[in-house]
Amino acid sequence: MTTVFNLNDGHKIPALGFGTFKAADGNEAYQSTLDALKAGYRHIDTAAIYGNEESVGRAIKDSGIPREELYITTKLWNDSHSYDLAKAALATSLKKLDLDYIDLYLIHWPNPKAFRDNWEEANAEAWRYMEEAKEAGLVKSIGVSNFLVHHLEALAKTAKVTPSVNQIRLAPGCYQGEVVEYCRKHDIVIEAWGPLGQGELFGNTDMKALAEKYGKTIAQVALAWSWHEGFLPLPKSVHEARIKENMDFADIELSQEDAEFIKNISGLTTAPDPDNANF
Ligand code: NAD
Repeated sequence: MTTVFNLNDGHKIPALGFGTFKAADGNEAYQSTLDALKAGYRHIDTAAIYGNEESVGRAIKDSGIPREELYITTKLWNDSHSYDLAKAALATSLKKLDLDYIDLYLIHWPNPKAFRDNWEEANAEAWRYMEEAKEAGLVKSIGVSNFLVHHLEALAKTAKVTPSVNQIRLAPGCYQGEVVEYCRKHDIVIEAWGPLGQGELFGNTDMKALAEKYGKTIAQVALAWSWHEGFLPLPKSVHEARIKENMDFADIELSQEDAEFIKNISGLTTAPDPDNANF
């Protein structure tokens, strides 16, 4: 996958990433990541909380692909929103992944339960360390995840570096117009997590009809929609055939009318509320 998006800090990011959420540590995460790398993915998305950084790291090593050809993202979990805790968390992720640097490090969640009384300051402090880590070369780029406009505006009050990425839930029937608009305006690349609706699209009759119309699969139409919107999708699968299927959508040219229809499909899960989640 050679297509890339340009980040606002001058780095480039492969326009399709491989998701690893719920890929169990051990053989499942190892084999699926290895299969993805063999199939041609060059961008892997993991997180401290997924508990699979060691297996992902092993697959990266065993793939034999030169480090500079790979793009690796991991994320700071909700228990570590301070300068010192972020420093320790990044060190742990680097160790588990067995890497010298991470391409993209994200604050996973803007308003965790543990910091709900002072989330703004907690984010600012974690970010201050992430800026230093970028300066020191431990990470190439820094960004956020699940941030809404008020979280981004709060961060901007003290940040020296604008986030390069905001990774949010975006899928057919799950659109977050306000934050999408903000990110576009501020040159923040939008990554789509759950781009296949975390599996629920496969039973949707509207998506079935569109897949038939374009002569592709539901997954491929959903991923083509992501690109149509300018999002960077992170599909996950642990099955080799689906891993390959989820790379094969660049030839789909959705009509504007179908793209608009997909955006508004009703009855599908919408985005979580980061200010009220129970974690
Ligand atoms: P997804 O939308 O990628 O759906 C994955 C599920 O769809 C799979 O478990 C499988 O059941 C099914 N599937 C995949 N390909 C298929 C195919 N071709 N045919 C039929 N079924 C198929 O959901 P996800 O894994 O939750 O999200 C993708 C990635 O985004 C994650 O793996 C993770 O890396 C990231 N993510 C980030 C956050 C966040 O808070 N930042 C949250 C969730 C996920």
